Amino acid sequence: MPAGLKQKEVNLPTYEFDPKTNLKLRNWFVQEKRDLAFRKNRTPYSTWVSEIMLQQTRVAAMLPLYEKFIHRFPKPEDLAIAEEEEVFRYWQGLGYYSRAKNLLAGVQKLVNEFGGKFPKTLEEALSLPGVGPYTARAILSISYNLPFAVLDGNAKRVLSRLVLFKESGPKADPALQKIADSFLNLDFPGDHNEAVMELGARVCIPKPLCNECPLQNDCLAYQNGVQESIPEMEKKKKGNPFEYSFLYTKNETRNTFNSLS
Ligand code: SF4
Repeated sequence: MPAGLKQKEVNLPTYEFDPKTNLKLRNWFVQEKRDLAFRKNRTPYSTWVSEIMLQQTRVAAMLPLYEKFIHRFPKPEDLAIAEEEEVFRYWQGLGYYSRAKNLLAGVQKLVNEFGGKFPKTLEEALSLPGVGPYTARAILSISYNLPFAVLDGNAKRVLSRLVLFKESGPKADPALQKIADSFLNLDFPGDHNEAVMELGARVCIPKPLCNECPLQNDCLAYQNGVQESIPEMEKKKKGNPFEYSFLYTKNETRNTFNSLS
């Protein structure tokens, strides 16, 4: 289990995915991934900038602004000495200026306390202003290939549907993190995380395009015909969200789901 996972909840089922499911996802990603500017010449710093910009901003709107920003501030040392006013100018069009303010503060701390090198532990990454659990895991996995599974809205939707996990909202996050950790491809954590999020952004959208999905045969929601209603909106019900917990059994032609908890 990756370090840093908060799992104080009890009775969370254990999950085991068939490695073939990971392979299908990775093959799809290698062939289908978008050729995005922030995927070129990646560094922890450029990943950090792109992840912060992508919060609350769509990829298409963010891309030209990302390229200008990185051109002006190519390294953390360049950003760390910039005036806030100038940073804000390069942030125009993205909105939510608190993100820029936190990014500047975080990069200043990175330069002053870490010599400009992004740390490799979750704890140290989380000590940087503006770096929360999602951003820390994304940077560590994508830039250093460290085994941290990320959970954004797209990943949550994909994972919930794959295992027919109905719960949503903050209370569901520990269980979803556990599902994400179990699904993580330990050989390619960065690609895996991006693949899950990209599948959620392009195929496993709210009204999913299951006929284009590489995981159609592995998806419990699809097999049960309920893909469009998973995850359920957060609501009053208190029933057991783990209608299914599962074990992919290698020798079976269809998925078999058994509780491992
Ligand atoms: S089969 Fe459909 S619901 Fe299941 S993961 Fe793929 S797109 Fe999402």
